[in-house]
Amino acid sequence: MLNLILFGAPGSGKGTQSPLLVEKYALVHISTGDVFRSHISRKTDLGISAKAFMDKGALVPDTLTVELLKNEIEQHPNAKGFIFDGFPRTTAQAEILDKMLAEKGTSISALIALDVPEVVLIPRLLNRGKTSARPDDQDIDIVKNRLATYERETSVVAQHYAALGKAHKANGVGEIGEILKNICQIVDNLPR
Ligand code: AMP
Repeated sequence: MLNLILFGAPGSGKGTQSPLLVEKYALVHISTGDVFRSHISRKTDLGISAKAFMDKGALVPDTLTVELLKNEIEQHPNAKGFIFDGFPRTTAQAEILDKMLAEKGTSISALIALDVPEVVLIPRLLNRGKTSARPDDQDIDIVKNRLATYERETSVVAQHYAALGKAHKANGVGEIGEILKNICQIVDNLPR
């Protein structure tokens, strides 16, 4: 299996690149943020609980997030591989993901971090907020809190995979097609 973590700060382009990678490598895309938003629009109990955290730009607690991810993985028993987008966001989540994949006889192939400076991220997010109807993209304080949460709680996840020799960086600024090429170059050179 080819299991990729598409990593990077909010607004780094994970959601833009994921469908392109799905098409190229025939993987299943799991975006925990998208799944939470689907629960919110269906007003499920999980959606109502998650919304309180998402509206502040904070992380949804691991107990809720891990359960949600497990369900998503279980829905695709024949997947050739996964793209994890927005998960893991804490070292604890990374350890749980590693364990879940080990139980399926597989593992993370690579974490690919999209490298985008903060001065580019803030206008990108606010701009997306004009058309995406995502409340967490429309308020500068929430945007800043999401970026601070990423620095404080999520960026360490890259170190977890670096220690396993699996962390890579791709330039995330420029044309969408160029960025895709940067990512594919990494994927195509992974040991298979
Ligand atoms: P995203 O669509 O990836 O930007 O995620 C939007 C929001 O969903 C985040 O700001 C968090 O509140 C929540 N979220 C998504 N994935 C996770 C995760 N792995 N752990 C905790 N919270 C998450």
